[in-house]
Amino acid sequence: MEKTSSRLAAEAIHLRRHGELAKGDPVALPLVMTSMYHLPGDPAGFRQYGRFDNPTWQAVETLLGHIEEAEALAFPSGMGAISAVFFSLLRSGDRVLLPADGYYTTRVLAERFLKPLGVDHDLRPTASFGEGAFDGYRLVFVETPSNPGLDICDIAAVASAAHAAGAVVVADNTTMTPLGQRPLDLGADVVVAADTKAPNGHSDALFGHVASRDATITKAVAEWRKLSGAIPGPFEAWLVHRGLETLEIRFDRMCSTAELLAPRLAAHPAVKALRYPGLDGDPSHNLARAQMERFGFMIGLTLESEAAAERFIDGCEFLQPATSFGGVHSSAERRARWGDAVGSGFVRLSVGCEPAEELWKALNEALDG
Ligand SMILES: *Cc1c(COP(=O)(O)O)cnc(C)c1O
Repeated sequence: MEKTSSRLAAEAIHLRRHGELAKGDPVALPLVMTSMYHLPGDPAGFRQYGRFDNPTWQAVETLLGHIEEAEALAFPSGMGAISAVFFSLLRSGDRVLLPADGYYTTRVLAERFLKPLGVDHDLRPTASFGEGAFDGYRLVFVETPSNPGLDICDIAAVASAAHAAGAVVVADNTTMTPLGQRPLDLGADVVVAADTKAPNGHSDALFGHVASRDATITKAVAEWRKLSGAIPGPFEAWLVHRGLETLEIRFDRMCSTAELLAPRLAAHPAVKALRYPGLDGDPSHNLARAQMERFGFMIGLTLESEAAAERFIDGCEFLQPATSFGGVHSSAERRARWGDAVGSGFVRLSVGCEPAEELWKALNEALDG
């Protein structure tokens, strides 16, 4: 990384001023809702059609690209971004390595739609991802920390071994955002992420992006987007742009609160087990210290039973019972309800932006109750 995350975040707030604004222009990003552009005569060199580009997406791509220090391409969801990478880079006969314990929809997509096209895959647990060989894979996909188990793999080690075997390395960086972990600096070729989560942060839009410093890859992904029509809506792009302007302050609060809460929650008698990469003694801790800028805002806690977990989630004044994570409101859910390979009392807690001690009081009371 050439610049620190703090430097990038500060620059991001002033990006429009230095990049785009002429005297008299609005300081806030205009929302441009259009399918057509005024286009008489020779169309070359001008905006042509709403599926090809839009000034509001371009603004969010410029901002995401600045923070990633890469070219960024916006998509209507995290899965839209992941699909674009798969369908633009893979060919029949290729083989893919996926995390066994990552976001389950990625595996379902590979099973249901890549496999019938002749692209088969293997699954490997994140905690031991670097231990096996990478020969024969065209694409190696990591997700670290993995959602929901919060296991970690060494991105730099995986990238160098996978590159030696001729694979493209893709990192799903949703759980950390580019301010918390920088997979491209660690050697990954491509980052995919669900900006639905912390980057937007207000739980009112789905969005995703692909980022890469390899122009061959971004060219293929951009062409796939243009031809498939998997384009983001300008209004969602506008919301995500607005969210990104406060990502640094929200992410900082969320991670700091999670760091404060994790040891307190771990010490509570109702908590049978707790996973947080920032916790001394967590299996992920040493690698997390080396590879991540922060320890994240997600905590995995195991309560005694399904009933105890549901009581905790429903009974806590400051927890939103909901799937998904990364919003200003803390939220939680039992992942076993979706079939993730976790215990029935396992709760994925996404720490939000509430003042930390107020949140702790509410969590503590709900655990006591
Ligand atoms: C949520 C999520 C996705 C998918 O994002 P959508 O915006 O819901 O499509 C992909 N990967 C991870 C790790 C996620 O948490």
